[in-house]
Amino acid sequence: MTALSANLQAVRARIESACLRAGRDPAEVRLLAVSKTFPADAVVEAAAEGQRAFGENYVQEGCAKVEQLAALGLEWHFIGPLQSNKSRLVATHFDWVHSVDRLKIAQRLSEQRAPHHAPLNICIQVNVSGEASKSGVAPGELIELARAVSLLPQLRLRGLMAIPEPTEDEGLLRSRFALLRTLRDQLNETFALGLDTLSMGMSADLDLAIAEGATVVRIGTAIFGTRTPLTESTP
Ligand SMILES: *Cc1c(COP(=O)(O)O)cnc(C)c1O
Repeated sequence: MTALSANLQAVRARIESACLRAGRDPAEVRLLAVSKTFPADAVVEAAAEGQRAFGENYVQEGCAKVEQLAALGLEWHFIGPLQSNKSRLVATHFDWVHSVDRLKIAQRLSEQRAPHHAPLNICIQVNVSGEASKSGVAPGELIELARAVSLLPQLRLRGLMAIPEPTEDEGLLRSRFALLRTLRDQLNETFALGLDTLSMGMSADLDLAIAEGATVVRIGTAIFGTRTPLTESTP
């Protein structure tokens, strides 16, 4: 067995046991394999093991893999910071965007998503850690943004995403994940947006995120190994 296939099996087992401990059905949690900085070959190998959904952070790198691997029919999620001038590439190459945090980006994605494509699936990124984190809409501004995004024709608002600040404090992390779930539930109860997605949990904390209701966990290191940092001039 290759290292990657062993890693994938271990991650799937972790998801399953976290679900069982939380009294949840493992079928409710999707594994998003974050392949950023790894070559297309690694994606091909994971796909051969049955992995279908992949996450990328950098526009150029991600689009190159999407084009190169188009024949495999994989599902591609853009999860990185998104600048306006790169939105067209994301709108034309990806199936999901997890990192929408302002209306202008959402409007551009909707305009640039070709009418013959299915609407782009969207998660709004929420800053659940206050001052400690830079990306994401503030919880107090979420309702307004979510309602506006939900009206854009070529987008389909699916849910919320968060990346809590790095911390060893499990109680703090759980409270961040719980906040995201509460915000999602409030949006559904008040505005009937039907949001079915909570994108939260990475290699180090997927178990806590699942305990708090994650429906998508975004896992890089535990599947592909340690990343060599790219020079991140092209997010
Ligand atoms: C890199 C990244 C991940 C994966 O992180 P790991 O700790 O390697 O599992 C998940 N989500 C986002 C937004 C990322 O940028």
